[in-house]
Amino acid sequence: MSKYIFVTGGVVSSLGKGIASASIGKLLESRGLKVTILKCDPYLNIDPGTMNPYQHGEVYVTDDGAETDLDLGHYERFTNGAFSKNNNITAGRIYYAVITKERRGDYLGKTVQIIPHITDEIKASIKKVSREHEVDVVIVEIGGTVGDIESLPFLEAIRQLRWELGEHYAMNIHVTLLPYIKSCGEQKTKPTQHSVGRLREIGIQPDILLCRTERSISLEQREKIALFCNVDVEGVIEAPDVKSIYECPSSFKVQGLDALITKRLNIKTKDNDLKEWENYVVKRVRHPKHEVTIAVAGKYIQLADAYKSIYESLIHGGIAADARVNIIKIDSETLEKGKVDKAFKDVQGILIPGGFGTRGIEGKIKAIKYAREKNIPFLGICLGMQLASVEFARHVCGLKTANSTEFDKNTKDPVISLLAEQHQVTNMGATMRLGAYPCKLVKESKSFAAYKKEDISERHRHRYEFNNEYREVLSAKGLVIAGMNVERDLVEVVEVKGHRWFVGCQFHPEFQSKPDKPHPLFRDFVAAALTV
Ligand code: GLN
Repeated sequence: MSKYIFVTGGVVSSLGKGIASASIGKLLESRGLKVTILKCDPYLNIDPGTMNPYQHGEVYVTDDGAETDLDLGHYERFTNGAFSKNNNITAGRIYYAVITKERRGDYLGKTVQIIPHITDEIKASIKKVSREHEVDVVIVEIGGTVGDIESLPFLEAIRQLRWELGEHYAMNIHVTLLPYIKSCGEQKTKPTQHSVGRLREIGIQPDILLCRTERSISLEQREKIALFCNVDVEGVIEAPDVKSIYECPSSFKVQGLDALITKRLNIKTKDNDLKEWENYVVKRVRHPKHEVTIAVAGKYIQLADAYKSIYESLIHGGIAADARVNIIKIDSETLEKGKVDKAFKDVQGILIPGGFGTRGIEGKIKAIKYAREKNIPFLGICLGMQLASVEFARHVCGLKTANSTEFDKNTKDPVISLLAEQHQVTNMGATMRLGAYPCKLVKESKSFAAYKKEDISERHRHRYEFNNEYREVLSAKGLVIAGMNVERDLVEVVEVKGHRWFVGCQFHPEFQSKPDKPHPLFRDFVAAALTV
């Protein structure tokens, strides 16, 4: 039977609950335990797939094609557990399931209520994850901040679960903030006391507090927090700001967090072992030998979270090359009017991420043309690959008005277009080509050189595809069709012949990169940039 760790957050949002949960997962795995992590989001969307990146940040895609919260990206990067659509529960999904059952008559004439019907559905969804992955420990992160109306049914559900499971089967960790007030030179514990107070009002007593702080917590402060929040002094753990998120597991390890958890849950394990992680990932992130500058030209660059997995994957590529990757974020819209050579003056690699909608498209095409003509290493992801094909058609094959039908429905040369199956689609949610698909690589390609194998599997999230009617024209002029989905006859990877390193992929490699296992395309892209 799995044991459960419930992670809640208080005082303010953006405290890094996701990284904290992922770090706990990492530490427990290093003790030989099998772990999975689950995110509960209190909003009413069924999934974040239809949300604007400004609302939500990146939409992370799992192998089984679920569009999920970006915290799942952190979970996958830190741990080796299996993740599926069941690892992200939203209030929308829970309500949808309950209302569907109500319409079917499953509740046999009863009044359907938040307690017990919604809370039962939440509990069942949490337990389902433990059964599906057969793990020792399920870490359940509750999104939002304690005190929100929206998260109440989730908090009630985990309260009940802890009561049902008993002492050694469930525990609560609360992530909170200790603000430092400069004018009086003091670290304040009151917001934490209030937050824990709110939790206790609804019957949840945290076992451990993870305190986000800029400065270290004195023993006196620890004792005060412990006394007023009703936790043991050693249960007051510091979560300081660190240079890299990959240092978090070590920072918790030295404070004995994992030992505290295994003791509290009564689990016998070997000692933790983060040696490889610390000697490879942390060391190289902190003290890299080299340095390289990569430009990411997209339309959501103001938002740190919009291309989260891409930024992390670039860092992973840097770890493999023992290099610091300086990321320059360029607004693709400004490239439309501005000078490209000025924007890319000090840049050794150019990456065009995925995206939707017309804004900034021509700027991205200018950037791709520059990378192709100046022999600058280039990685185009999803929309980036589609636009690389359009750019090649326009400027190498002379198809001047070539475009994707996403941006010009009536283009004379639809190099990128919709498959017939997508024409019938009317719903926006979960209707793209989603999740893992196989791809066969061509042996004489940069991609094969990176993966060192022909058969790969990568995750997708798009509607439009490379139009096979243009394969011959573009190949004849030097666009290498380097990867195909054989079964469905779809182009997955394009490269430019004779270029130092120019790869466009229809899939999202950034969803499968880990700091200790950098993705082959990111690894080789960063390595190629280092040779510029
Ligand atoms: N907008 C493009 C499509 O739907 C690309 C999507 C993406 O980059 N994720 O196919």
